[in-house]
Amino acid sequence: MKKIIAANWKNNGSKKFIKDYFDYFLKNLVSNNEIIIFPPDLYIDKLNHYRDKDNFNLGGQNMTYVCDDVTQTSGLSSDMFIDNGCNYILVGHSEVRGQYTACNEAAKSLYVSNDLQVIFCIGESADAKKNGNTQNVLIKQLEDLCKKGNYPKVNPKKVIVAYEPVWAIGTGNIPKIDDISFIHRFIKTYVSENHPFLKEKDIMVLYGGSVSLKNAQDILSARYVDGVLIGGASLDAEEFTKICNLKI
Ligand code: PEP
Repeated sequence: MKKIIAANWKNNGSKKFIKDYFDYFLKNLVSNNEIIIFPPDLYIDKLNHYRDKDNFNLGGQNMTYVCDDVTQTSGLSSDMFIDNGCNYILVGHSEVRGQYTACNEAAKSLYVSNDLQVIFCIGESADAKKNGNTQNVLIKQLEDLCKKGNYPKVNPKKVIVAYEPVWAIGTGNIPKIDDISFIHRFIKTYVSENHPFLKEKDIMVLYGGSVSLKNAQDILSARYVDGVLIGGASLDAEEFTKICNLKI
């Protein structure tokens, strides 16, 4: 079954890194999965030159929410991402959420995502997990996704949520596979019951947090898992290509 395999490069990369990476990646990629790479904004155009019809997709790691047409130094709009070959945008990654000061919630970016497919990141902290608050935290974050005023100008035909427990990001720890399935099912049910027009079949849920070649097959084969979002391991061209090539 076709899965989404997404690479979040965060603040990593250089022109030399990209050349070496794509020398390997393009030579060894034999995948039917949907691959998305989220490089730093400065390198999006560089990666776009390696794109063929269907080999991989591009996305931005974050988008600026600009209040009511005011100008914003350092702002990036959805049109700019699209102009540079992107069709996806990450919204609300846990490493970005905390930085929002003006215009509050990360989810406000949903207002301006236009034709970009949003991947909406949610996840509980270690404390929330310890205190049994995982589902309450996720509901709070998902409320933004389901709020009427937060729809993109173009209504989405589908929603992609990335479930990324904060305690699993970059730590080498992952939830038990059954727990991943349980939470993914919970997310699909919550969104389909609270979103006014999206049905369960329109909601995809990716898992993110310490995905590697060692655990990717098990995670991708789990029920209710539509794909993975990979940070650290996606920087190793060989490891990432092998994950992309997995057959599920
Ligand atoms: C991430 O930050 O989106 C992520 C999944 O990181 P890692 O794979 O390194 O845990």
